[in-house]
Amino acid sequence: MGCTSYIDPHKWPAHTQMMIAMIQLHGELTKTKHQTADGNIPSHVVIENLKRICENWLEDLRYSYNTLYCLEPGEDYETSKNVEPIIINSGYRSPAVNKLAGGAANSNHLTGCAVDIHTYGIEQAIRYASILLDIADGTKQEFDELLLEQHGNVCWLHFAVKPKDNRRRIELLKI
Ligand SMILES: [Zn+2]
Repeated sequence: MGCTSYIDPHKWPAHTQMMIAMIQLHGELTKTKHQTADGNIPSHVVIENLKRICENWLEDLRYSYNTLYCLEPGEDYETSKNVEPIIINSGYRSPAVNKLAGGAANSNHLTGCAVDIHTYGIEQAIRYASILLDIADGTKQEFDELLLEQHGNVCWLHFAVKPKDNRRRIELLKI
């Protein structure tokens, strides 16, 4: 493993991890602008998949990104006002929501295995992607998709982790 931007989560307070996980799970990861009769309610299996991404990846991404790019030297992650959130545009999608969102029929969003991470431009997308790759190497975890997606001037990262059979697909997609 070469240069790493990933910071070992053992070096930061454990309660932060769970707190962020629960906030994100009940809010951002199932929210949708699409109104459907099914209410986009996740199953237990979907919740486990969302938890996996949240706890094993997104919180480490948040901590590493902020420590590297947002905090002043010596500033405390727990108390700093400079900490930026990782914004999830889309997490779990029920079949009805996925259809409205124009998602692929076999989308990892259908099982809660994928999130679309909001980024402010290509630079932040590349920094996020770099940290996620370092997390994969540093923790020896597999991921299924790391897709830098762009539509016009807007770009985001589609990141997916499955319980097994992860393909480590890395691509730049213009949509
Ligand atoms: Zn996506």
